[in-house]
Amino acid sequence: MNMTTTARTRRGAAIEIHSVKKYYGSFAALEDVSMRIEAGEFMTFLGPSGSGKTTTLNLIAGFTDLTEGDIRLGDRSISALPAYKRNIGVVFQHYALFPHMTVFKNVAYPLKLRGVPSAERERLVKQALAMVRLEDFAHRYPSELSGGQQQRVALARAVVFDPPLLLMDEPLGALDKKLREWLQLEIKRIHRELGTTFVYVTHDQEEALVLSDRIAVFNRGRIEQIGTGHELYTNPATLFVGRFIGESTILRGPHETRNGETALSVAGIKVVAPGAPVGSGPQTILVRPEKITIDVPGKEQPAGTNRLRGRVTESLYLGSGTKYEVQLADGTLVVSRMPVAERPFSIGDEVDVSWQISDSKLLADDGSTESA
Ligand code: ATP
Repeated sequence: MNMTTTARTRRGAAIEIHSVKKYYGSFAALEDVSMRIEAGEFMTFLGPSGSGKTTTLNLIAGFTDLTEGDIRLGDRSISALPAYKRNIGVVFQHYALFPHMTVFKNVAYPLKLRGVPSAERERLVKQALAMVRLEDFAHRYPSELSGGQQQRVALARAVVFDPPLLLMDEPLGALDKKLREWLQLEIKRIHRELGTTFVYVTHDQEEALVLSDRIAVFNRGRIEQIGTGHELYTNPATLFVGRFIGESTILRGPHETRNGETALSVAGIKVVAPGAPVGSGPQTILVRPEKITIDVPGKEQPAGTNRLRGRVTESLYLGSGTKYEVQLADGTLVVSRMPVAERPFSIGDEVDVSWQISDSKLLADDGSTESA
C-alpha cells in the first residue's frame, strides 16, 4: 500500500507555551520560555547541551511537571493532563521498541491501547509501515533490525494513531552521518505527507537547517531567537545565535558611532557596520564567510567596502570553492569562502580581506571567545 495515496488530510494542532519555568530545586532549567508553534509546522529546538531543549519537550509531552506557566495544544490547556491523555506521538534517541514484540505488534501497540478493532488496526499498521518503507519487516523482532530501521519503526509507532503532534528528541543521534542524512529527508517527507505538527530536538545546526520551518535557539534555559534558518543566518539577534548557526568571522575593538553607522577599530583599522550600537556595552561585527573576498594587497575597492590586511593561514579546496583562513595583525581569524580561482592563494600569502559595509552585522559582545 502506498501512503501517498492514503495520506491523511487532518492538520496538526498548534502549541502555545506561555511563560514556562522549570526549576529543579533552586536550579532554573528553564527561565521563562514562551512561543507559539503553528499547526502543521516543523519546529526545531536547537542549542548546546544543557540549554533546556529536552526539558521543554518533556514538558510538552507531560513527562515532567512545569513549575510555572501554561502549555496549550489546539484550543485547550494540557498542563494538568497526564502524559497518556495528551495523545502526543514521541520518538527518542534510543529506540525504546518492545524487544519481545514483532515490528507489527510494536506499531499496533498504541492502537490496542486505544481499543481500535483488529481489522482497522491491521490496516493502520500496514499504512504506517508503508510510510516508513518497512512493510516487508512486519514479522521481524527489533533485534533483527539495524539502528536506522528500528528508528523508522519507532516513528511508525509514534504516528500510527494519527496524533496532532509528534515530538522527537535527537532521534538520529545514535546513527552514522550517511544514514542520518537519508533519514532527515525521510522525516521531511513524512512531515509533508502527514501534515502533523513536528517538534524536533537537536544540537546539530545543519540538521536543524535541513529539517525545519522554524528554529528556536536555546541558551541556558532561555530562547535566544526563533526564526527560519535564513533569518537566523542572515540576521542573528545575538552573537550566540550568529556563532551557533553557520560559520562566521567575529571582529572586536573599541567603537564609535556617526551618521547611523558604527565603526570598530580592528588591528588599528576602522571597519564599519550599519546601525547604532546594540546596548551600552562592547560591540562586535559578525561577517559570513561567503561575503568576504580575498585579494592581493592594495587592490582598489569600491566605496562602501571594509578592508583589512592579513596573512593566509589555511587554504582548503572544497570542490565547489575554497575556504581560506586569514590571520590579522591582532591575531583575529577571518574566514572566507570563495569560488575556486585560477591562481589560488597559498598559506603565508599577504592578502587584503574585504566585504561590503552592508554585510557587517553589529551585535552586542557577549565576551565569548573562539570564532567560527
Ligand atoms: P542535551 O542536548 O544534553 O540533552 P538539553 O538542552 O536537552 O541538553 P536539558 O536536558 O533540557 O538540556 O537540561 C537542562 C538543564 O536542566 C541541564 O542543566 C540539566 O542538567 C538540568 N536537568 C535536567 N533534568 C534534571 C533533573 N531531573 N534534575 C536536575 N537537573 C536536571
